[in-house]
Amino acid sequence: MAYIVNKNDRLTVYVEDLTHDGSGVAKVDGYPLFIPNALPGEEVEVQVTKPMKKYGLAKLIAVKKASPDRVEPPCHVFWDCGGCQLQHLSYEAQLVQKRKTVRDVMDRIGKLPHVPVHPVKGMENPWRYRNKSQIPFSEKNGETIAGFYKTRTHDIVDTDVCIIQSEEADELMSTLKHKLHELGIRAYDEINHRGMLRHLVIRKARATGELMVVLVTRTKKFPQKEAVIDVIKSVVPEVTSIMQNVNTQKTNVIFGEETILLHGKPFIVDTIGDIQFEISARSFYQINPEQTEVLYGQALEYAQLTGNETVIDAYCGIGTISLFLAKQAKEVYGVEIVPQAIEDAKRNAELNAIDNAYFEAGPAEVVIPKWYEEGKRFDVLMVDPPRKGCDEKLLETILEYKPRRIVYVSCNPATLARDLRILEEGGYRTQEVQPVEMFAQSSHVECVAWLEI
Ligand code: SAH
Repeated sequence: MAYIVNKNDRLTVYVEDLTHDGSGVAKVDGYPLFIPNALPGEEVEVQVTKPMKKYGLAKLIAVKKASPDRVEPPCHVFWDCGGCQLQHLSYEAQLVQKRKTVRDVMDRIGKLPHVPVHPVKGMENPWRYRNKSQIPFSEKNGETIAGFYKTRTHDIVDTDVCIIQSEEADELMSTLKHKLHELGIRAYDEINHRGMLRHLVIRKARATGELMVVLVTRTKKFPQKEAVIDVIKSVVPEVTSIMQNVNTQKTNVIFGEETILLHGKPFIVDTIGDIQFEISARSFYQINPEQTEVLYGQALEYAQLTGNETVIDAYCGIGTISLFLAKQAKEVYGVEIVPQAIEDAKRNAELNAIDNAYFEAGPAEVVIPKWYEEGKRFDVLMVDPPRKGCDEKLLETILEYKPRRIVYVSCNPATLARDLRILEEGGYRTQEVQPVEMFAQSSHVECVAWLEI
């Protein structure tokens, strides 16, 4: 079938825009071409790789006129690795771009052109910010490799350094990779479902410096376990926790069901504001600790608590937002689908002597209607759903009972805009949207929206 462009065509095009996942967009007689690594404002030579009905993909051959915002990516594997998408764009321009992404979906999907979208609250130093690394291990030509996946593939881009993760993670990743071979421990072979070490997961608590290392293995039997523990201790003598997680399945889900303590404690302690949290191997915890305080601070500001409010924290994880809000509210009710996270939340409430936070495990769309049916009433609803946004049934419940204020924390502006539109149809008015940087160098952006009825 013929399109405006054909496979392998070479064209010179002007890049108008950037997609939410960091590809440049050029139009050929109105037909969009998506070009990874090209930036808005650039004139580029491209080669068409995949023409399709409504749009095509092309690869960048040469930049003829570069954007003034183009910079040399500091990471040596940036062009291959799928971890970051925007290292070739100056950090200031990344923030401008992310605000524009949010503005666009608010206009197009939310139909909210009048709602202010503030400049992104960015980072002072947008490097080495991640407190968690999940590093796949494998083998290639008889060598152990470890790093991150190429975009949309399961090909590991082998590296010893990742400049958005901690230095400890770099050292553990490279030392273990080089030592495994010596110890005769095979890394996992995804295709044949053989080998031992699948993933190395490292978590560091920024406030306390506590460090957890999790070795995800294919079998429970772990030959040379002591030697591996010694290697880890030689790299990070202060390590707080070493865990083994067993994942026997042929799957790309990282963790399996069983987690075994190998050394130290089964959790690390971190603080956000003045609240302490115990974090275990599998709990959800925001990955950018410096910006988590900014994010939660914004959520707290929009909640405008005086001490008399009863608040819901829906999708509460281990209760981080709930406990952060509890001191300023009368009561907080947290709900979360993972029972283990709710156990963590309850323990964290105790740890901080907070006695006005209640937690229940279950789907938010089931538990919240139940609370209302039991006669409970809420002033402020905080929601922080996963990327797919709020469940339809939860939105229906909100519109039925109409808590007067909603604070919506979102890691996906498109589903946020969709849900805001539904809430607007039901009578809510979106007051403001504040984007917050949580994922510097990547194309992701977090937002907090404030609604009133
Ligand atoms: N507010 C927390 C966690 C946000 S991540 C924090 O800032 O740390 C989103 C959470 O929603 C995850 O913990 C996930 O397990 C949970 N979740 C996903 N679907 C859910 C549902 N239908 N009901 C309740 N929680 C859900």
